[in-house]
Amino acid sequence: MARCDRAPQPGRSDAASDPVTADLSYSDVLVVGGGSAGCVVAGRVSADPACVVTLVESGPRAVASGPLGVLPVGPDSDVVWRHPAQLREDAPETVLARGRVVGGSGAVNGGYFVRATAADFTRWPRSWSYEEVLPHFRRLESDPFGDRAWHGDSGPMPVTRTADLHPVGAAFVGAATDAGFDHRADLNEPDATGVGPVPLNARAGVRVSTADAYLVPHADRPNLRVHAGVRAVRLVLDGTRVVGAEVEEGGRMRLLRAGTVVLCAGAVGTPHLLMHSGIGPAQQLSRLGLPVVLDRPGVGQGLEDHPEATLAYRPAGSLPYRPDRAVLEVVLETDDLELRPYTAPFGAAIPGVDDPFGRVGVALMRPDSRGEIVLRSADPAVPPLVRYRYLRSDADRAALGAGLDLAAALLAASGLGEVAGGGAGTDPLAGLGTSMHLSGGCAMGSADDPHAVVDDRCRVAGVDGLWIGDGSVFPSLPSRGPHATVVMVAERVARFVAGLDA
Ligand SMILES: Cc1cc2nc3c(=O)[nH]c(=O)nc-3n(C[C@H](O)[C@H](O)[C@H](O)COP(=O)(O)OP(=O)(O)OC[C@H]3O[C@@H](n4cnc5c(N)ncnc54)[C@H](O)[C@@H]3O)c2cc1C
Repeated sequence: MARCDRAPQPGRSDAASDPVTADLSYSDVLVVGGGSAGCVVAGRVSADPACVVTLVESGPRAVASGPLGVLPVGPDSDVVWRHPAQLREDAPETVLARGRVVGGSGAVNGGYFVRATAADFTRWPRSWSYEEVLPHFRRLESDPFGDRAWHGDSGPMPVTRTADLHPVGAAFVGAATDAGFDHRADLNEPDATGVGPVPLNARAGVRVSTADAYLVPHADRPNLRVHAGVRAVRLVLDGTRVVGAEVEEGGRMRLLRAGTVVLCAGAVGTPHLLMHSGIGPAQQLSRLGLPVVLDRPGVGQGLEDHPEATLAYRPAGSLPYRPDRAVLEVVLETDDLELRPYTAPFGAAIPGVDDPFGRVGVALMRPDSRGEIVLRSADPAVPPLVRYRYLRSDADRAALGAGLDLAAALLAASGLGEVAGGGAGTDPLAGLGTSMHLSGGCAMGSADDPHAVVDDRCRVAGVDGLWIGDGSVFPSLPSRGPHATVVMVAERVARFVAGLDA
């Protein structure tokens, strides 16, 4: 039975059928956070005209995503959150940017759209095996390339690959294949490794976010309300049932009531909101004087991301930069590393950043490190600290060092330019950064796992009517960038919420 077919509840709106008498504060489904996942959930669930869906997004409404080769996440950006972050224990704090706009991080990202591998899903609950998730990967995309066994033809997200490679990509592919790595034409085949073109969520050089793909085409649905500039401050519960959220808009607080709430505020926002609603590690909440509604030790714990160090080089010639080209057109996937020959200096691709070097990124795709979200104040407007704890293990440090050596060898063989300091043997701890692939913090797991926050249907254990649909539910980080997998998870959660899949 579809979730919106249930008997009317007290205070329930019939906005779709009777807009005059409707209680506009009530929705059947309230989606909190209009990022990569939230747009998918709102777009899919509102396909049922009987279901009133409200989406609240803290950031502004983007008209459309911009050119693929421009990442609007620099210091002056007005479409990102800036969270304090600590990459290594004892390291000084830095700033982590996440999208704050309708479309979320997927509206400001690099457009790389590579799926998690089949092996990655062996670390997820059995109901998320590769066989179970493949139909959802196919449903979400339109990718005319490759074997039809793996690809979809009619989904909302267009997937493309660059055919006429940038000189950087072409030289890197040549060096990698000469070094014995396979050329892989389709990195979205299960367990694909080797060097090849990056699948991109883009059309004609323009990034296509989930806002573009799942919301814009349905802007005229009377049962779909999208409110930008509205921040959820805390959830409202009646006993063990969620009944809505308190939101802030332009300094004014109000209550939005709902039958079902789906949290899609991202890997920082979702645990942060849960903790400010009294759902989280009791000790941490009590230390700040926050009420403990439900002691959930896993909230904000087990965060994962891909540490990335870059090898900077002085280009032998000029690096032609075109905003309509992806900054990453090809990658090399080994078992646990991803090498990224960026086609543009970060100073060209990220407005406000000063960096003239060419760069090859080296990312650890199966790191040991696990981080956490740490609340710093009882005031929900104060951002939490994202503590990564990168490179604590000898294995991670050794793998990153080996990756930098490989990058240096491929750079030398490609003739792209000379390493600008360091090179083979470069200290992996120097110049360490992050791939911005933060996931986890509300992991799915079984009822007997004390650190699980949601069950394998992404329902928050212990709270009726509350779901999580974003990257925070990942029980383990995929060995590829997370965006395509976030969209797949949101597709599935939309079906669970709508009652289409049990
Ligand atoms: C700069 C950058 C580049 C990246 N590049 C890539 C890439 O090329 N390929 C790839 O695979 N991955 C990439 N990623 C990661 C990928 O984009 C994210 O993993 C993915 O978009 C996360 O989706 P999400 O829905 O979980 O969160 P988000 O897309 O971040 O959405 C969360 C949304 O919730 C909103 N929100 C938060 N709190 C509240 C609140 N209290 N009330 C209301 N709204 C709230 C936020 O403003 C945001 O819009 C990149 C990320 C960044 C930041």
